[in-house]
Amino acid sequence: MERRAVVVGGGLAGIAAAVMLADHGVAVTLLEARRRLGGRAGSFEDPRTGEVLDNCQHVAMGACRVYVQLLERLGVAHMMAWGTRQTWIERGGRRSTLRAAPLPGTWAYAPSLALARFLSMGDKASIARAVRAARDVNRVSLRDVVFLEWLEATSPTPRAIARFWEPLIVSACNLSPARVSAEVGLHVVQGALLGGARDARIGVPTAPLSSLYEPVGKVLEAAGGRVVHGARVIGIEPGRVMCADGAVYACVAVVCALDPASANRLVTIDGGHPYAGVSFSPILGVHVRYDRPVLDVPHAVLVEGGVQWVFAKAGDPCMVHAVASAADAWVGLGEKEIVERVVAEIGEYLPIARGASVRWARPVLERRATFAATPDFQGSRPGAGRYADQGCFLAGDATATGWPATMEGAVRSGRGAAGAALLSLGEISGATDRPER
Ligand SMILES: Cc1cc2nc3c(=O)[nH]c(=O)nc-3n(C[C@H](O)[C@H](O)[C@H](O)COP(=O)(O)OP(=O)(O)OC[C@H]3O[C@@H](n4cnc5c(N)ncnc54)[C@H](O)[C@@H]3O)c2cc1C
Repeated sequence: MERRAVVVGGGLAGIAAAVMLADHGVAVTLLEARRRLGGRAGSFEDPRTGEVLDNCQHVAMGACRVYVQLLERLGVAHMMAWGTRQTWIERGGRRSTLRAAPLPGTWAYAPSLALARFLSMGDKASIARAVRAARDVNRVSLRDVVFLEWLEATSPTPRAIARFWEPLIVSACNLSPARVSAEVGLHVVQGALLGGARDARIGVPTAPLSSLYEPVGKVLEAAGGRVVHGARVIGIEPGRVMCADGAVYACVAVVCALDPASANRLVTIDGGHPYAGVSFSPILGVHVRYDRPVLDVPHAVLVEGGVQWVFAKAGDPCMVHAVASAADAWVGLGEKEIVERVVAEIGEYLPIARGASVRWARPVLERRATFAATPDFQGSRPGAGRYADQGCFLAGDATATGWPATMEGAVRSGRGAAGAALLSLGEISGATDRPER
């Protein structure tokens, strides 16, 4: 008998859940409110320029193994460019390169850190101390303290905090070291700095994010399923999912893969919000098209910058994408002021950009970019695959994956929820997804 499931939400969590279910022979209907898949890790067509732009530049690390496996399954892994070099640029343009050497654990960054010019010997010794301490720590036991509190116990220099730890933690966790749970911050340190050269690689898509998800429809169709765009779900009940346009999808299992705010509106766990107490942290991404190439490396960290990273868009040397994580200081500024500040800052770090003209610039400020992984919220994240009162399995980056809000966390959550749904399908079977109007 046919097994049919519905996945609500076509972000990475929903895509991962749907693909895993389809790979187990389940016919999946993937319901997505928007016209494109990908959710926060997606693209949009800019009405002003007609260009397909990403919501924001998205970066993966080699440690994001399950995300990479999903790309491989979709046949799009070749659309990621992987590199081992991190360029760190100071105001005025002086550069240093960090690179994980093929050495064990705490030694991997030692050779390039020793040569880095943006840190003093004292800064480097304090970083080495902290990395050694991170190697032996049980990060889960530090869930209730903030990363900075853990770091301070290793006697970091103020410059090492400002120049190294702040950009590393803020860009990976989208929260400052003073706010993020040490469990999450240490996850990043252990993955990025202690995981070895392969895990430390940085991967950047070479095409718009939305093109990575184009094969999803075919994968689902091969198992009798499909993607439905423009399907805004307004209610979930055991075995039924209702959309705003009146369509009702009957099924034997539902995965709810919504962002935390939408999930809180639609489902409950034991009568309460699944993400009670969630708060959010903003990210600013600014696309800038210059009249000439200004960035000669794929990406760079701006040491003590208001934006932490700049990226050169693959295949388009005149485009730069600047990203400010934990962007609270930018919220409330007008578009013109944001662009002026970002362009001025790029000029301070990349002297060649000072002589270039800006053809156009497009800031995208996501106020609710990611959940804030504070100690309070960390302890309350529901497990991936948790069964909600409405008869659905929960997925999404804010479930308790142990990861910060990342594509890897989202994919892991989707697979966790799909696994729970598959278990349930061992006992239940039969249904169709024809809309009942
Ligand atoms: C600006 C920005 C930059 C980021 N940078 C990085 C990065 O560099 N690296 C990284 O790993 N992560 C990054 N992230 C985080 C990453 O994008 C997210 O963690 C991940 O994409 C979340 O996936 P998700 O599927 O859990 O949620 P979402 O992507 O939010 O997916 C939820 C989906 O549900 C849909 N939906 C909502 N309501 C309904 C409804 N009622 N009916 C039907 N569908 C609905 C939404 O349209 C959406 O498609 C960034 C996030 C942002 C916002």
